[in-house]
Amino acid sequence: MTEPDDAAARRAAAPVICYPNETLPQPDLALYRAARVGASKTAEVLAAPRDAAAFRVPAGHFFRITSVDGPQVGDLNLWSVDDLTERFYSGKTRALHGTHITTGERMWSSLPHLRPMATVIEDTLNWYGIDEYGGSVHDVIGTRCDPYTGHLLAGTQYHHCCHSNLTRALSDETGLPLHEAERHVHDVLNVFMCTGFTRDTGQYFMKASPVRPGDYIEFFAEIDLLGALSACPGGDCSAQHSSDAAACFPLLVEVFAPAPGALEGWSSPARSGYDGTHGRGPVAGRAG
Ligand SMILES: [Zn+2]
Repeated sequence: MTEPDDAAARRAAAPVICYPNETLPQPDLALYRAARVGASKTAEVLAAPRDAAAFRVPAGHFFRITSVDGPQVGDLNLWSVDDLTERFYSGKTRALHGTHITTGERMWSSLPHLRPMATVIEDTLNWYGIDEYGGSVHDVIGTRCDPYTGHLLAGTQYHHCCHSNLTRALSDETGLPLHEAERHVHDVLNVFMCTGFTRDTGQYFMKASPVRPGDYIEFFAEIDLLGALSACPGGDCSAQHSSDAAACFPLLVEVFAPAPGALEGWSSPARSGYDGTHGRGPVAGRAG
């Protein structure tokens, strides 16, 4: 198609931020960090290479994901313990915070709940910023590696993609049959993964993660959480995923309980205050 005469003028329209976040409720990071100082470890679990582990974090507790042994990225799913249909909403988190999240930003839950599930309180990779390719760490733009896309593109039957790892972990943790558990697996937070979109073609790219053993990201649980973390078969995602080709390492998840009284004044966030009527009158059973 030929360009219209005013193509340059149309392209020159200034971008407008879709969701200005000045009105976004802000976490009290100082309170969380003070509570973390006196917290004690209550549990730990290791996500083995090319596998996933599930864990539970009560509201007001903390969880830390640490790279151990070698550079490794992780795919994180979060659910409300009481209701697996309330789960991490990657797309809205991206709309609210941008393509990657770090300290002070939050993982938001699905509609109709839309409340913070977890708040990042420490991130040893937040020095990375945005590199010359537009890449950054801890993205909410990818989905999760899965065997269906692998089969679509390469005809493979590979069973250790993050999607399958998370499915097995959720099934084992909840007792749900595998194919029922699979329906609850959702787009992830790509922990430690370095990603972006190419400027020329707009394609999703990955590159070697800057993570090194000892690096961690730590969260405050805003609600009672069930989590699952997959140690991606892509390893540090410097070359490929969805196969056994990459070097893979475990990821450590640790849970910490605050000292009694350390969260004075804090309460777990309520579900969205939207009335849920969608313009059609009251909805039975809908509570805030
Ligand atoms: Zn993966």
